[in-house]
Amino acid sequence: MPRNPADQLKTALLLIALAGLLAGLALWGQPAAPLAWQAATLPVLAALVVEILRSLARGEVGLDILAALSMSAALAFGEPLAASVVAVMYSGGTFLESFASARARAEMEALLTRVPRTATRHKDGALEDIPLDAIRPGDLLLIAQGATVPVDGTLASPMAMLDTSALTGEPLPRRLSQGQATMSGVTNAGEAFDLTATRAAADSTYAGILRMVQAAGAAKAPMARLADRWSLGFLGLSLAIAGAAWGLTGDPVRAVAVLVVATPCPLILAVPVALVAGLSRAAQLGVLIKGAAALEAMARIHTLILDKTGTLTEGRPQITAIHVLDGGDAAGVLRVAAALDQASTHPMAQAIVAEARARGLVLPLPEQVQEFAGEGVAGRVDGQDVLVGGEAFVAARTGRQLALAGVEPGAVTVSVAVGGKTAGRLVMADPLRKGVGPLLRHLREGGIARIVLATGDRAAVAARLTEGLGLTAVHADLTPAGKLALVAEERARGPVMMVGDGVNDAPALAAADVGVAMGARGAAASAEAADVVLLVDRLEPLAGGLTVARRARAIALQSVAAGIGLSLLGQVAAAFGLLSPVQGALAQEAIDVAVILNALRALRIKV
Ligand code: ADP
Ligand code: MG
Repeated sequence: MPRNPADQLKTALLLIALAGLLAGLALWGQPAAPLAWQAATLPVLAALVVEILRSLARGEVGLDILAALSMSAALAFGEPLAASVVAVMYSGGTFLESFASARARAEMEALLTRVPRTATRHKDGALEDIPLDAIRPGDLLLIAQGATVPVDGTLASPMAMLDTSALTGEPLPRRLSQGQATMSGVTNAGEAFDLTATRAAADSTYAGILRMVQAAGAAKAPMARLADRWSLGFLGLSLAIAGAAWGLTGDPVRAVAVLVVATPCPLILAVPVALVAGLSRAAQLGVLIKGAAALEAMARIHTLILDKTGTLTEGRPQITAIHVLDGGDAAGVLRVAAALDQASTHPMAQAIVAEARARGLVLPLPEQVQEFAGEGVAGRVDGQDVLVGGEAFVAARTGRQLALAGVEPGAVTVSVAVGGKTAGRLVMADPLRKGVGPLLRHLREGGIARIVLATGDRAAVAARLTEGLGLTAVHADLTPAGKLALVAEERARGPVMMVGDGVNDAPALAAADVGVAMGARGAAASAEAADVVLLVDRLEPLAGGLTVARRARAIALQSVAAGIGLSLLGQVAAAFGLLSPVQGALAQEAIDVAVILNALRALRIKV
């Protein structure tokens, strides 16, 4: 379906070229026949020349020049039928390319059609329909059966069933209980439920994903540029063959036949088609890749840097113990910590709030909140200064380090200070995600040479957690700037992929060759900074995504190489007079179709 003016022009040119070709064939043998062929070729040639001049103005020399040359040469040397066939093939080729890339993109565009336009909000005991942009964090929304969740939020009803398949490819509905967070874009697969909005629509996961889908493919992949460079050599070679054929035989029609076979309409388009098909295939696996350039970079990753909390671990920590200083009470420490952590999206914060609520504690609203990404939060609760965060963060501000005696080496700890004095600590367990060991082995076998941990947490926690995983290196106590520096350092060795979930990972994600965000529950900032978003709350799809990237890149290369090889063969045959211009045009089109079909194989890559 032609959707934009450029596509409509392509369709019109194809129809004109086709009409002229058929009219000429109907008038076979009559003087009007060549006129019909010429008349139908000229508009295609004119549009093509405009296109070529435009790209030359941008400093790009493309293979389109060959198509223009072969049509004009065929017209000039009295081969109007060949010219007409090339015109049909060329306009048909660009049409085929738009069709193929639309097909390749379909998976991602399916996401776009599901954007809800309005939401239903509870207001003073009644319901009102409001536009999406009017939703504010804190609003209580009613999500009807079958409706798409419009913004990120937490469940206010006791239970909900969510269908996340469109975003993640996970076939089974997910059960959500009260207080748990969900991302926007998933569908209500059960009864209607209430949702407390935590983000405005524009800041929500779904909007971020849609922005990524729209940006995907906008940037030209390095490989497409590489193909453009190859095309210069191809252009030169084809001209040389055509010139030699003419010079040696004295027959310009030989040169016309060579140029016609060389007309590589969608040959070079095979690269974008294969890469975009790879993007679609990865999206099916729940791996959303921002564009062809990112896909290509993924195919060449040397080092993988992993964040700890929420990436390597489940990021759903449980409080296993609460230590309090003399005179304090555990519930009191938990209550102030949770009150302040209501303002944070850190996985520790969410766990602390959930635990406090589960214990029936009433949490006052914190004031003057300041979050230090990856370190902790400062603010006021009940009129007192409160600090919640890592040991180092709190110790640096209270001047007192609570002894870690009695804390298991691998346990994550969150320190709490009230009124400038250390009050206690929460000891938490955040286990590794299941299947991390086999996954890392698999990635190493797939060609990732270095796997490195980068965490803002304590060294003891990181060391205990990664025991037996065979990591290349473990870096702990990193600030966001420290993670960034580590990425820069590793990049000296080769292309780096960084995977993270937190706000504190965002700078590192942006700096890596490929930044991967844990999108399902991670911070929106990390998803925005990333080139790739894992839409499921699992690490495994990363392996599939890497396989798809490598295979799609290989298929793209293979398509170009095969297309160029076959075309050169045809040119040599034409130079020796084995193919007439008209036969050459047909042969070239067969090659193009084969190459594009081969590129579309990337849609079905097995992982
Ligand atoms: P990672 O970099 O491995 O994801 P983070 O840097 O996000 O880990 O977290 C490391 C530590 O920082 C946590 O174990 C916790 O002690 C502390 N921390 C950071 N932010 C908060 C917060 N909002 N509430 C409680 N603890 C926090
Ligand atoms: Mg993290």
